[in-house]
Amino acid sequence: MTFLEGIKKAGVVGAGGAGFPTHIKLDTQAKTLIINGIECEPLLKTDKFLIRRFSEALIQGALAIGKHLKAQDIVIAIKEKNKKEIEQLQRCLKPGEVSLKIHPVGDFYPAGDEQMLVREVMAETVAPGKIPLSKGVVITNVATVLDIVHQQPVTHRVMTIGGEVNQPCLIKVPIGTDLQSCIEAAGGPKISDYHALTGGPMMGQLCPRSELSRTYVTKTMGGLILLPSHHPIIQHHHLSISHCLKRAASVCIQCRMCTDLCPRYLNGHPLHPHLVMRSVAFGKITMESSKSALLCCACGICEHFACPMGLSPKMINESVKSTLMQGGVKWVNTEEAFQEVHPQRSYRKIPTERLIQRLGLSIYETDVPETLQSLTPDKVVIPLKQHIGVLAKPVVENGDKVVVGQLIASVGTDLGSEIHSSLDGTVKKVEKDYIMVERS
Ligand code: SF4
Ligand code: SF4
Repeated sequence: MTFLEGIKKAGVVGAGGAGFPTHIKLDTQAKTLIINGIECEPLLKTDKFLIRRFSEALIQGALAIGKHLKAQDIVIAIKEKNKKEIEQLQRCLKPGEVSLKIHPVGDFYPAGDEQMLVREVMAETVAPGKIPLSKGVVITNVATVLDIVHQQPVTHRVMTIGGEVNQPCLIKVPIGTDLQSCIEAAGGPKISDYHALTGGPMMGQLCPRSELSRTYVTKTMGGLILLPSHHPIIQHHHLSISHCLKRAASVCIQCRMCTDLCPRYLNGHPLHPHLVMRSVAFGKITMESSKSALLCCACGICEHFACPMGLSPKMINESVKSTLMQGGVKWVNTEEAFQEVHPQRSYRKIPTERLIQRLGLSIYETDVPETLQSLTPDKVVIPLKQHIGVLAKPVVENGDKVVVGQLIASVGTDLGSEIHSSLDGTVKKVEKDYIMVERS
């Protein structure tokens, strides 16, 4: 079996983002491999733990991927403040492993964004609308590297459970575990009126309290953060797009702070959220201004940090972006699209600590125990689409006995990722979009 066939068979997807199938992403050659160990979302501690606990495996995985890509440089990017993790990695580096370097990055948000990483590590700008590979760079998240190096089907996820729980912790859970069980494993909620965010507070998705027992851990879920229902971040998620547009039309003062602090704009991309706000809110939509929304990475700086009026440029950008994409509009680079990195970029980076204060999350920024908790639920509901691509098709039937790691759904040769059982048990339900397995 080739390196890529092994990755496909194990169902590995990009664990830090949208779940792009890794065997497709790595089906290339690259000059540079960057292992993304930044984990810039506030409150998440998953990747840092994985680096500490599995530093040797991480280095071996990085070297194996680098060899496959024929990369000249292999870099592990990590925040310079994470001294323990850097020391641990350095201890595991063998004298001959000169092709692998540890690259400390400043503590700002969103340092882990792929375009930011290329800027920080290589001092280059990826052209607007392009991916890092256009610069000869492949970027892979820490958890993904470990999934590759372990060469086992991806059946579990290490997650940070934080916020309003009694015992914030790191936990290893079978994929398909319901989120309510994860919260109980972290000592239960501290308060009665709460909602959750899957992922981090800046880019995570809202999961209302009523949905927690019907929402399941996926391969891409690195954290679950509980916040009070009245918390501004939760309130923000409840805003409708029509409400955001009305507020934009009423109170956007065109101060352009959203643009001046936008990391993509500062990196030299022609993204001007204040112009998108102007054109959308005042009904003067021009293709030129609205198309720039396609360059937005949804980092949330504009609405959670920059805007003095509490408006929602990110949500409006996302709405414009989705309309454009549905209409088949794509970003096309022109001469003017290539701009220099902003001369004040380094002064306008948002320090993570300041961001945490602004978000009202400082009270939740606590250490978690080093011991990894584990959880074995009575049943798992495994989604058949945890990745970019097509739904995986079930290859098991009701009543089948399955074991952990057994293939239960496959994408064949289509774009997507194989799905495996995360429990030893019996298949109790096979639906178009999920398979339920009960523990034996
Ligand atoms: S920062 Fe807020 S008020 Fe200022 S231009 Fe942007 S959306 Fe408008
Ligand atoms: S979310 Fe806002 S700050 Fe972030 S890239 Fe998009 S426009 Fe820029």
